[in-house]
Amino acid sequence: MSTLQQSTDATPRKLTVATAWLDGCSGCHMSFLDLDERLLALAELIDVVYSPLVDAKQLPEQVDLGILEGAVSNENDLQQARLFRQHCKVLISLGDCAVTGNVPAMRNTFPLKAVFERAYYENVTQRPGVIPTIEVPALLTYVQPLHAVVPVDIFIPGCPPRADAIYTILADLLAGKTPDPNAVTRFGA
Ligand code: SF4
Repeated sequence: MSTLQQSTDATPRKLTVATAWLDGCSGCHMSFLDLDERLLALAELIDVVYSPLVDAKQLPEQVDLGILEGAVSNENDLQQARLFRQHCKVLISLGDCAVTGNVPAMRNTFPLKAVFERAYYENVTQRPGVIPTIEVPALLTYVQPLHAVVPVDIFIPGCPPRADAIYTILADLLAGKTPDPNAVTRFGA
């Protein structure tokens, strides 16, 4: 795994961080926000350069740390996962949906056709059978965890992972250490 090592200059540069949610509920990002006052300390060390949590919406060419929440369920998720892998030195799979597929992957027990029938024929009272195709990314046949489509460096399980666990892992990374997520979080935690 690539490690995150801050510059040894007298004025070290901040590490750049990008985050995104794929097919998730945003709960993992909310857990990140639960760092509360520790976010102020983190802000001294990192720059969030792309995220649903900030205004910057253009993924920079090079990012130190990428954090992805959610499973890979549609074409847009797949594109986003590949972009993050291409541009981020270290990639974190955050939360059970990203790590295992979790809730979104429950649809894998049904053929895609049955999923569409349930959503757009059986469960609608207006305009049944109208399947949106404009500005709605196409569903993939199966929902996959992040590491099934791109290499992942660090897995942080939990639904969502607790803020304390996220903080410990980020602090280790910022200190140039290899974090041990198993020591601080687990599936379903
Ligand atoms: S792991 Fe849990 S909290 Fe995170 S996106 Fe999935 S369902 Fe939401």
